[in-house]
Amino acid sequence: MKKKLKIVLATSNTHKIEEIKKFLTTYEIYALNEVITPFEIIEDGASFKENALIKSKAIFNALGNKQDEFITLSDDSGISVEALDNAPGIFSARYSQEGTDEANRNKLIQALHEKNLHQSKAFYTAAIAISSKYGHFTTHGYMHGLVIDTLRGSNGFGYDPLFIPKGFDKTLGELEEQVKLAISHRSQALMFSTYILRVLEKIAF
Ligand code: IMP
Repeated sequence: MKKKLKIVLATSNTHKIEEIKKFLTTYEIYALNEVITPFEIIEDGASFKENALIKSKAIFNALGNKQDEFITLSDDSGISVEALDNAPGIFSARYSQEGTDEANRNKLIQALHEKNLHQSKAFYTAAIAISSKYGHFTTHGYMHGLVIDTLRGSNGFGYDPLFIPKGFDKTLGELEEQVKLAISHRSQALMFSTYILRVLEKIAF
């Protein structure tokens, strides 16, 4: 009988783990700390894609003799704000000095105000990287919309209470979780990833 593909998520971000698990329901998904002891990975790539690959490769290498059993999947993502020359982009998680979601959101609001703006076009990017003994693969997804300077709602995480997706009049903080799962940058990138996962499942496990 064919074995189920086992995927280790190369992230400790619980929100991302939750979203990925809800999306990839037909696979055996493991959080990083369920398979190996998490360790620090320096994300010094110049793009979402490079950082996603740095994470998936580092965890895959650390799997050692479990490389026959598991593949790794990472997400590198962030928000780019048009009026701020696409900042914070790949620095979204560490935009503020504290690096908490709240401090990052406050810094974004402050940066808009410094330009006398209350809103700007913006987009989320997600790069998904998959590392396996059959090679390394990446996909991307995007979600366009508007960032505003007031927090609305408490769903999602990160910049979600400030982000109104195109075609909606509510922030991701206010919209139902199912809406985000249907349209998000992460979901799009994961949708593309399912093609890669299907091939890996066929040839490898
Ligand atoms: P990473 O863990 O280095 O990929 O950083 C991702 C950061 O980008 C998060 O900490 C959030 O600040 C932001 N981000 C990425 N995706 C989302 C999302 O879906 N909603 C809200 N913020 C996000």
